[in-house]
Amino acid sequence: MVRHSATLAIDETLRARRAAGQPLLHLAFGEAGLPVPDSVAAVLAAAAGRNGYGPVAGSPQARQAAAGWFTRRGLATEPERVVFAPGSKALLFALLAALPGDVVLPRPAWVSYAAQSALAGKRVIGVPVPPEAGGVPDPERLARVFAETRPGVLILTVPDNPTGTVARPDHLRAVCDLAERHGLAVIADEIYGELIHGGGPAPESPAALLPERTVVTTGLSKSLALGGWRIGFARLPAGPWGGRLLAELTGVASEVWSSLAAPMQAVATHVLADPPEVTAHIAAAARLHATVARAVHAEFTAAGALARRPEAGFYLYPDFEPLRPALAATGIDGAATLADALLERHGVGVLPGDAFGDDPRALRFRVATSLLYGDTEAERWAALRAADPLALPWLAGSLTRLRAALIALKSAPGGTR
Ligand code: PMP
Ligand code: GLU
Repeated sequence: MVRHSATLAIDETLRARRAAGQPLLHLAFGEAGLPVPDSVAAVLAAAAGRNGYGPVAGSPQARQAAAGWFTRRGLATEPERVVFAPGSKALLFALLAALPGDVVLPRPAWVSYAAQSALAGKRVIGVPVPPEAGGVPDPERLARVFAETRPGVLILTVPDNPTGTVARPDHLRAVCDLAERHGLAVIADEIYGELIHGGGPAPESPAALLPERTVVTTGLSKSLALGGWRIGFARLPAGPWGGRLLAELTGVASEVWSSLAAPMQAVATHVLADPPEVTAHIAAAARLHATVARAVHAEFTAAGALARRPEAGFYLYPDFEPLRPALAATGIDGAATLADALLERHGVGVLPGDAFGDDPRALRFRVATSLLYGDTEAERWAALRAADPLALPWLAGSLTRLRAALIALKSAPGGTR
């Protein structure tokens, strides 16, 4: 039985409850929550007449634009090494279907890697992340895995979902070294790479550290908030191994999705040329994500939770272990009961850590902050343009509501709703 993916399931549930009149704080879904720039919408409208399927890997123009995009970010790329798809999720699944061997995942890791591995008939080996930042397995613990088993694939998420952090360069180097020594294929999921807080560059890509065996997947769902447009792309390595994988990946693509929708390829061609209005929009988005994620982080730490400081994207991953005795008195003993209490007693929707492969007894969950920007397009534009977004009444109101819920969570099972 294949279950509805935890992220999409909770989003549908919470939106249905809100539509039915329940006032909920929706912190459970990683949708970037921002409007489409007019210039990008105009490109899509102008491309409406493009109704041919086109080549499976993407049009020459889109592949050329993506190759330039990677090259400007320090990864020299030939257009022939780029494959487009309806979302990077489709590419991840096709890669897992094509690559041999079991899959090593950081723990916690984004929900779909384990589910897709199971669909592809693969065993998953979860290796805890270091305390400093998520998205990569702790190198020392990863080294121990090879004493017992011979996995084939390692997935790294840099920057990370669910922890909202960026792996340390020395950890990245150490895990890529291990992958090289043990002949693993690395999938580097870099979908949050444009959203580093403070606008800093992403750390060196695993594709620079292990060039011949790393595939990079990314897309426009997070940087430009185009999740519903489903634009993903991958960069395959040069060399014979990469060439064989490319042939297999496009083989799977040809049997499953044929090609990315042609108008979306026109959008990708435009956006991936880095026109100034697009880069300015993404920079403003990264600033807003940083401001709101830091404010929400402050609420959780003030409530007594431990949480790594957010460094990229729009997530944090609090740990309520210090409050275990107080929470136990209200019947909370693990991730599921904690997330359930937050939703049912206090009206706050989050995704429990076990959805990310974490220990179900741990009091951890993922908080996504990007649906706080507003309920209407006008509110979301205002948030993006505001000098002080936290002063906007709907954002300030949500933070106040969250603070009240976290205070009430620790005290009694009565609820704040
Ligand atoms: N990887 C990560 C870490 C994600 O959070 C997401 C979000 N959906 C994806 C991949 C897939 O995104 P998409 O299919 O929209 O490109
Ligand atoms: N990646 C987003 C999340 O983690 C949602 C979309 C998805 O899972 O496909 O919530």
